[in-house]
Amino acid sequence: MGLSKTIWTNPAELIAHRRPAQPVLVFAPSVLQATARRFIRGFPGLVTYAVKSNPEEAVIDNLVAAGVRGFDVASPAEIDLVRRLAPGAALHYNNPVRGRDEIAHAVAAGVKSWSVDAASELEKLIEMVPAEGCEISVRFKLPVAGAAYDFGAKFGAEPARAGELLARVAQAGFRASLTFHPGTQCIDPMAWEAYIRTAAEIGRAAGVEIARLNVGGGFPSHRTGPAPALEEIFARIERASEEAFGAARPVLVCEPGRGLVADAFSHVTRVKALRDGAQVFLNDGVYGALAEMPLMGNLERIEVYSPEGLRRMAAPVGRVVFGPTCDSVDRLPGEVPLPGDLEEGDFIVFHGLGAYSTATNTHFNGFGQLEIATAMTLGR
Ligand SMILES: *Cc1c(COP(=O)(O)O)cnc(C)c1O
Repeated sequence: MGLSKTIWTNPAELIAHRRPAQPVLVFAPSVLQATARRFIRGFPGLVTYAVKSNPEEAVIDNLVAAGVRGFDVASPAEIDLVRRLAPGAALHYNNPVRGRDEIAHAVAAGVKSWSVDAASELEKLIEMVPAEGCEISVRFKLPVAGAAYDFGAKFGAEPARAGELLARVAQAGFRASLTFHPGTQCIDPMAWEAYIRTAAEIGRAAGVEIARLNVGGGFPSHRTGPAPALEEIFARIERASEEAFGAARPVLVCEPGRGLVADAFSHVTRVKALRDGAQVFLNDGVYGALAEMPLMGNLERIEVYSPEGLRRMAAPVGRVVFGPTCDSVDRLPGEVPLPGDLEEGDFIVFHGLGAYSTATNTHFNGFGQLEIATAMTLGR
């Protein structure tokens, strides 16, 4: 992956000038900074960024420029990346399971906030991490719907267990906090409300006044229909915290990945072939930047451009869309509505593809030469 020096007006201009044979993710720093400011202004607490969703250096740099001062990291490599680009930023090591070598690395790097969801992992932290000035957040889970897919399948303690862990954290002298993740692309604000109420109950039952409540990521990006109303979610979180905790309200923290970064990138792909006039073969697919489509469903913010950069406007026709590899799972779900005048050599632009795209791109079958370009805007 390389970052080119040219700054394009928008993806259409890049298409007309470059006609790129390989996929190009077009990054608009202005969009990222605007989204970051929207979170900082609207969220009633500390906004941190989940690095795993897009660890590009330009992303971290622009988030810092917009005022983001904390990062959710999950590995020594992410810790080192943020330490290098944002030396003063707070690091929240919120991958609840770690090897002892990883814990030692994080202690040496000055990590002061950790999450945990099991007694075995908590005892490792108590043994290896100096309690002074350090926070441990117990991650709990609920069987609530609302997200595109459920994160509780891997991490999170049941509320009763979380209470036991919370009491042990406090007894060991750490700042005791709670955390949860409602699941990614969560479009139902009620999910946060249910978690926040349960957090208050866990604290009360354990007899621990929690220092902070981290309400996770999961904030939706614009994939289909109208843009999600982030402010509505922020308001719901604020009100639920007020109601559930009253005077003992903890400091709130959020750790969006997708909700911060997705809309700041548009993905330019090319139609390699229109096989017998029917099926579309793209130069990128589920082993590349379109990895999430089978999990999340198709992203519907699609535009098609001719090689001259003119938008195709004919009535849409549903088409099967395959990626470039020889693997038959390399296709987008169902049929994708694409303009009826689509031709070989055209460009299909997927808007809102900044999260879980660069990060999970592979080189399977010799593909995956993903380039990152910069643009002033992503619209026309
Ligand atoms: C992945 C992850 C996030 C970010 O999730 P999004 O749905 O991208 O906002 C935040 N926190 C933790 C602990 C995660 O694992």
